[in-house]
Amino acid sequence: MKDNNETLYMQIDADWNAWRCSECGCDWRLEEGDPVENGMNFCPQCGRRIVKIVHAQHGESEAE
Ligand SMILES: [Zn+2]
Repeated sequence: MKDNNETLYMQIDADWNAWRCSECGCDWRLEEGDPVENGMNFCPQCGRRIVKIVHAQHGESEAE
């Protein structure tokens, strides 16, 4: 069962390193690394816990 307080972050543009929250749809551009490497355990906009990230080129990986 999907927890309502969890979300998935998808890399929508590898060149710009832009990421999108699957729940609230906000976009974030990171200097480098992925949301987990930047300490983003929660979405800054909707506050949901980031449980999974999906790289545009490298497939899925667990957030922890
Ligand atoms: Zn969000």
